[in-house]
Amino acid sequence: MKVLVVGSGGREHALAWKLLQSPNIDRVFCIPGNGGTATMSNCQNVSLSIDDFEGILRFAQVQGVGFTIVGPELPLALGIVDYFQAAEALIFGPTQEGAKIESSKSWAKTLMQEANIPTAASATFQSLDAAQAYVQQQGTPIVIKADGLASGKGVTVAMTIEEATEALDRIFAGQFGSAGETVVIEEFMTGQEVSVLAVTDGKTIRPLSPAQDHKRLGDGDTGPNTGGMGAYAPAPIATPELMAKVQTQVLELAIAALNARGIDYRGCLYAGLMITPEGEPKVVEFNCRLGDPETQAVLPLLDTNLDDLLMACVEGNLANFPPIRWKKQSSVCVVMAAGGYPDKVETGQFITGIGKAEDLGAFVFQSGTKLKNNAIVTNGGRVLGVTALGDDIRNAITNVYSAIEFVAYDGMYYRKDIASKAID
Ligand code: ATP
Repeated sequence: MKVLVVGSGGREHALAWKLLQSPNIDRVFCIPGNGGTATMSNCQNVSLSIDDFEGILRFAQVQGVGFTIVGPELPLALGIVDYFQAAEALIFGPTQEGAKIESSKSWAKTLMQEANIPTAASATFQSLDAAQAYVQQQGTPIVIKADGLASGKGVTVAMTIEEATEALDRIFAGQFGSAGETVVIEEFMTGQEVSVLAVTDGKTIRPLSPAQDHKRLGDGDTGPNTGGMGAYAPAPIATPELMAKVQTQVLELAIAALNARGIDYRGCLYAGLMITPEGEPKVVEFNCRLGDPETQAVLPLLDTNLDDLLMACVEGNLANFPPIRWKKQSSVCVVMAAGGYPDKVETGQFITGIGKAEDLGAFVFQSGTKLKNNAIVTNGGRVLGVTALGDDIRNAITNVYSAIEFVAYDGMYYRKDIASKAID
């Protein structure tokens, strides 16, 4: 079977790689893909834009693609799944209405409140004056969020009234365009964060191996927020007891609430959770797609055919699917960025040593790269992710940092402490 993957990140490279492990898959197309998917056997990049639904569907039909998987949130929020479903083409991901769980934080908050899903107390505002008055009344710390998609930049955790006021001024002045016409102001939660990526056919929902992401740029969780500097799985904090709570108090309630709104949600529901000091899961956010870099850490642990699992979701047959199998190992993914990231970066730097890192048994999933004159060069902020497995987290950390030694390009930057939290 041929499969189409929409997106160009490390997540999509990992998806394409994992799909090609399956005996059922002989070819993967990536739209638009990256340098890694361009050079992987049986994988081909297709130069189409991720919001060109007409072009993507036509390509899938002409090539006889069996099913399509959508990586990033934007095409889901714009309705790619509705477009494919209208043509009876199989696709993994929620419809535009379901994707609102990520594309509108106020919508997601209302859903959580109605379903009694544990989350931070919040209020929603459409006027600057009312929002400022609320901040004055609540005090700090407090969290200010633009309602719509803002590539992870729409959230300010404000420790002072000045920071909160400044964030509100910026959002209402149009920093995020229409994504900031509504603002959600939330109670500040403390604890450790865990990402639970779950797959669902709209009725049954099953978690993948729980992961922990590292959003801050610098070691020790310092510096600005980024798209993610690394991840590890399984996260030891997500004990079986905690995962049982996540299943019944978060995932199943979310699916029931979506159903109650008439939404048949098939795809990935990603619960970003704060584990409170009392050990209770509280939802920070829901995403309507697989996380990146979490997917890069999680997929190498998966011992079930990914296409079978995703097809069971698309076809509404997850209840009858056998238990998902996992390697009894730990996985650590370290993201390597370009100098200057998350601000403006230089591109076009030659990358060496990927093959040597892979010879050591590491997986190198590329994101901001492209193929230029038969060489891989940098082409974005997050350049690639190096993932290694180990018998335990300590071992996986040693393995991943040994493999990274071989990779080099000008301006290379990565965190040296990925997964160290898991050992503490
Ligand atoms: P991303 O796109 O990176 O997933 P996002 O823009 O959708 O992010 P959130 O995940 O809601 O935003 O928030 C980003 C980060 O801000 C969280 O991972 C968390 O560290 C912090 N944060 C968000 N809400 C809260 C809260 N209520 N209390 C404490 N920290 C929070």
